[in-house]
Amino acid sequence: MIDSARLPLVELTRNGLYLPDAELYLDARSAPGTVFVSHAHADHCSVASRILCTPETAALHSARRGARDAVELRFGERLRMGDATVTLQSAGHALGSAMIVADGPRGRVAYTGDYKLRPNPFSPPVEIPRCDTLVMECTFGEPRYRFPGDVELLAQLFAFVDETRALGATPVLLAYALGKGQEMLYHLTAAGYDVVLHGAIANMCQLHETLGYTFPGPGRWSRYRKGDIGDRVLITTPSTRKTAMVQKLEAKRIVYLTGWAYHPGAFNIYKDCDLVLPISDHADFDELVRTAVESGASRIYTVHGMPGFSAHLRSMGIDAEHLAEHPNTATDGGEDEPPDGAGAGSGEGTAPGAQLGLGL
Ligand SMILES: [Zn+2]
Repeated sequence: MIDSARLPLVELTRNGLYLPDAELYLDARSAPGTVFVSHAHADHCSVASRILCTPETAALHSARRGARDAVELRFGERLRMGDATVTLQSAGHALGSAMIVADGPRGRVAYTGDYKLRPNPFSPPVEIPRCDTLVMECTFGEPRYRFPGDVELLAQLFAFVDETRALGATPVLLAYALGKGQEMLYHLTAAGYDVVLHGAIANMCQLHETLGYTFPGPGRWSRYRKGDIGDRVLITTPSTRKTAMVQKLEAKRIVYLTGWAYHPGAFNIYKDCDLVLPISDHADFDELVRTAVESGASRIYTVHGMPGFSAHLRSMGIDAEHLAEHPNTATDGGEDEPPDGAGAGSGEGTAPGAQLGLGL
């Protein structure tokens, strides 16, 4: 007879991570039951027939990947699932992004999804979940990925924009369509810059506004129309930097916004850019360590990132294990992915840390 009290609070099934007490899959691309979708980036969207997420993620998921039967749960609301009670809390990664906490008869388990502790204008402040077992992402789980503060990074970004405009050129910012694109627009318009957006980013911004999340003035934004940028700032997606839209701009300077700026190969990987700034929507190394420690968890599983991070936690006396590749490997080129040239695939097997042998 199986002693269920000894079964783990988290299982890795062929459909991905599973919480047996809550009968819930975590960010699974497909699964026979209900899937918790932490946020609406493509590598977390699901084709399962039933999903659990915040109302904002449900709307974004519907716009990006088609409507699903969605159980919508607001931050702090409680829902009975199986033998557990689940709540969602802010993850600070993008609009609607959430961590999940499941309280069951055998203890409390939390899953972070992608997150950051630094402020996001479209997310409530993030609190580190206290729990017995923690499942956490570790995208930037190496010590080289310690990012400067937002004030310093935005000052550098604004200086780049000002210098570029003083040269009579167009500042081109490369940022992902959901999350960083809106964060950058928010800060630029608040600082008085007028901005033109690539259509994919503009679509997401319109949806933000429909959901009640607006962008401050005095700067204004509009959708890109050919030949109509003027002296405004252009925000476009990284995948467009080789297209005519960017290439045919007569005078331009390009800044790539990514935490992979600190990748040892960044100089070559981003050599077509004038600047790479480590503006990220993920936790940096220190935030990851802080999360592990302050969660109070007696057992930690790391996913979505660098296997060496779990070894670092073990060196700190924390019971940690890296779970093998997450099955949900679709990507929209988000920051979860190592940069070009650092491994073409997704998942932990190709993360830069695996190749560099940093010996955490
Ligand atoms: Zn993400």
